[in-house]
Amino acid sequence: MSHILHRSLRQTPPLAVGGDGIYLRDSQGNTYIDASGGAAVSSLGHGHPDIIAAMHRQIDRCAYAHTAFFSTEVAERLADRLVARAPAGIGSVYLVSGGSEAMETALKLARQYFVEAGELKRSVFIARRQSYHGNTLGALAVGGNEWRRKPFAPLLMDVPRVSPCYEYRGRAEGQGVDQYTETLLDELEAAILHAGPENVIGFCAETVVGATGGAIPPTPGYFRGVRRLCDKYGILFIADEVMCGMGRTGTMFAIEQDGAAPDLIAVAKGLGAGYAPIGAVLANGAIVERLRNGSGNFLHGHTYIGHPVAAAAALAVQEVIERDDLLVQVQKRGATLRRMLGAVFGEHEHVGDIRGRGLFVGLELVRNRSSKEPFAPELKLHAAVKQQAMQRGLMVYPMGGTIDGRQGDHILLAPPFIVSAAELSEIVTRLKEAVDAAVMEVLKS
Ligand code: PLP
Repeated sequence: MSHILHRSLRQTPPLAVGGDGIYLRDSQGNTYIDASGGAAVSSLGHGHPDIIAAMHRQIDRCAYAHTAFFSTEVAERLADRLVARAPAGIGSVYLVSGGSEAMETALKLARQYFVEAGELKRSVFIARRQSYHGNTLGALAVGGNEWRRKPFAPLLMDVPRVSPCYEYRGRAEGQGVDQYTETLLDELEAAILHAGPENVIGFCAETVVGATGGAIPPTPGYFRGVRRLCDKYGILFIADEVMCGMGRTGTMFAIEQDGAAPDLIAVAKGLGAGYAPIGAVLANGAIVERLRNGSGNFLHGHTYIGHPVAAAAALAVQEVIERDDLLVQVQKRGATLRRMLGAVFGEHEHVGDIRGRGLFVGLELVRNRSSKEPFAPELKLHAAVKQQAMQRGLMVYPMGGTIDGRQGDHILLAPPFIVSAAELSEIVTRLKEAVDAAVMEVLKS
């Protein structure tokens, strides 16, 4: 019996003992293709020698120095690099240890930005249904995934919620894409007005929805519209790119493809690519300037912020992405993956939608392709897909509750950027077998 409080208290997962490239191995000698990078984390695959060497060098030089006393060269270089490649206006980086911490930090920085100006009434964040922003109480509060929130709801701040930008389900028949986008923006504007713009701090959204939606990209113009509304009402736009950022969609920041510059951007997963726990908040220069000219401090901090070994890992990951031209690779391989998925699942009775950007791809599973009827949630199709895939040596990231937190199933694919076309073909072959076996299993039950 394991003494670890595992995610499932009834099952101990296999022991991972090693990995190489897109493969992970367990202690029983089984090998798995990591087609989801865990949860869209391992963007360079496993055992990358350059990242490991950079971490070794940093451990030997300076493994830790508390940020209340020191900065480190490696953290400074990482921040310089992130700012140099960030969307317009970003001027500072706050380094944390993961995605939830990044979102908590963004929420507090946004609040303090208004406190510094004496706007103490501002306390409202507006967010979207079917989003995931993390599991700590602030991040969970802005998240819109009902099954995750429900048991903790009494502990969470109230967050007005608007519809996600979810074309497959949200756009009515006969409605144009632009018209659909306008409807969503009207809804956001109504939510701002209802809360009272003078009470609102900001709007939080994942640029491309990951875990809860299955790689749902925004419609063209959606985030430009969001930016316009945030400017119109003087509120902040907080983009959560914890999952979709750091190259996953084929550009360093997913929002680059939407022509909108957020005030705050949270990143994590792909930042350290699994080699070290690290996340970051990138902040517009004006936000930090107001704090600098005001109280002079950001009232925040954790023991491990700016950890030098984590920063060394993240810096090496970013250097390898650039050196090996991996963003272009993500674009190319992403197109190949979607083409392969289209060929195999394009007419599949139980795959209603194939979507995403770059190597961030989702398949939405349906009982009936033409009516888009989902499978009954009790069947837990997503869990069956995960199990069937693992039995075939394939890691994918399926989830239930795609539509409303209860109904719907999807599969998220986020293979490492170094994946080859032949490996993608193997992923799609195994996935087809796993989906068919899972559907058969749940329909029999
Ligand atoms: N935000 C998004 C969009 C995420 O996908 C996640 C994790 O899946 C988080 C925040 C939370 O990140 P972490 O699990 O590192 O705390």
